[in-house]
Amino acid sequence: MAAHGNLRDDPFLTRLAEQEPSAWFNPAVTTTGAGLAASGLSSGIVDDAAAARLERFAPWIAQAFPETADARGVIESPLYAAPDMQRELGVTAGRLLLKRDDILPVSGSIKARGGVHEVLEYAESLAIEAGLLAPLNSGCATRNLASNEGADPTSCLTTGNNDDEPGGTTDYRAFGSDPFRELMAQHRVVVGSTGNLGLSIGITAAALGLQATVHMSTHAQAWKKELLRSLGVEVVEHSTDYTAAVKAGRKSAQADPTTHFVDDEHSVSLFAGYAVAGRRLARQLANQDFTVDGDHPLFVYLPCGIGGAPGGVAYGLKLEFGDAVHCVFAEPTAAPCMMLGVYTGLHDEISVAELGLDTHTVADGLAVGRPSGFVGRRMQGLIDGYYTVTDQRMKELVKALYATEGILAEPSAAASLDGPRWIAADADYLQRMNLTNQQLQNVTHLAWLTGGGMVPEDIQRGYLA
Ligand SMILES: *Cc1c(COP(=O)(O)O)cnc(C)c1O
Repeated sequence: MAAHGNLRDDPFLTRLAEQEPSAWFNPAVTTTGAGLAASGLSSGIVDDAAAARLERFAPWIAQAFPETADARGVIESPLYAAPDMQRELGVTAGRLLLKRDDILPVSGSIKARGGVHEVLEYAESLAIEAGLLAPLNSGCATRNLASNEGADPTSCLTTGNNDDEPGGTTDYRAFGSDPFRELMAQHRVVVGSTGNLGLSIGITAAALGLQATVHMSTHAQAWKKELLRSLGVEVVEHSTDYTAAVKAGRKSAQADPTTHFVDDEHSVSLFAGYAVAGRRLARQLANQDFTVDGDHPLFVYLPCGIGGAPGGVAYGLKLEFGDAVHCVFAEPTAAPCMMLGVYTGLHDEISVAELGLDTHTVADGLAVGRPSGFVGRRMQGLIDGYYTVTDQRMKELVKALYATEGILAEPSAAASLDGPRWIAADADYLQRMNLTNQQLQNVTHLAWLTGGGMVPEDIQRGYLA
């Protein structure tokens, strides 16, 4: 594989550098069993920890975010078939489904899965430590925060100074009460974000009464900064790129015991929050009589920025569907960071800047130059492939989606709709996966529409113009 210094000698990387739309299906992809083992992650981070935590918080969520009340505080999005868009895309075999995270409650993007979960985990640990909330049954799997990359991934967060004298309520609606809010007001969450993660963190923090600081690039969308400021969130702008914004956030939070840094590059808590989507999707598919098995493969197209959201969702999907699900990541031609990291084996040790790419793209949610090393290293055996999409194509897809389905998604989300054409185009890949014509007739293509719900109407009209 190309090493530093001679990237341009590799014809594939030359194509990436020239921003040619490209796909790469990883020849090193493994079976689900081998890939899950190689990930070094335990399924406990999803089921026992994140899913259970979201369930505990559901009564508070239903109260704090009334749009979730009908769903009893479950933050979930619809799934449905889109035959008109399928026809528009020219996909003749199988079926196209849309996963509507563009209208996910709380913050209108996939970030309401991971970001909300991590803020809740922090708030929960604070309330337990303060004795306001009853301690959890101890057990490693209930806590994710302490297992960020760099720490032992199987270790427990040991905060308990009150294990001997359990007290506090078990009713999570108490997070709306004065004692809880006074406690939260003494603490802060800090995050670096291209925009949507900041929104999910800022909105959740504000709902709990936590202080919040979001570090963003000056390239981030102005309306996202304004919205955050209107919630009382501190927004710090950096004239450099996303990676620098994250670094600044991490540094500011270091050594401050009243501050929690949401580390988009290494967070297990974010990852686990995203992964909860796997079980939920399995239930939705079953309820609608969509079969997924060896003879009915599921292809899921996930827009990828730093890799946390698609990586976490892919992990959850693999736990549910095993080898029957094929996860493919979509990136802008201006910022194919995960593809570059996995292809070269350098992961977070390489940035798209080394290909001369600047990450400036209309897909602001995906404008990341350096991938999460956590996701690339742990998940590479479970991600079938990667493809890139030009800004022009994303805008076309935004328009087509609106014309056919009346859905206003953001360009990042529309990148998922370009997936099906790359599958059919790669005979080597299909052969390697033993996908027969019969199976391809039965295929379900699922485009994960990752965001758009909070985009102001005038900006959205601009995408359509
Ligand atoms: C953040 C984001 C993604 C990708 O998530 P990462 O964790 O950065 O890979 C995809 N789509 C939208 C709309 C996003 O905001």
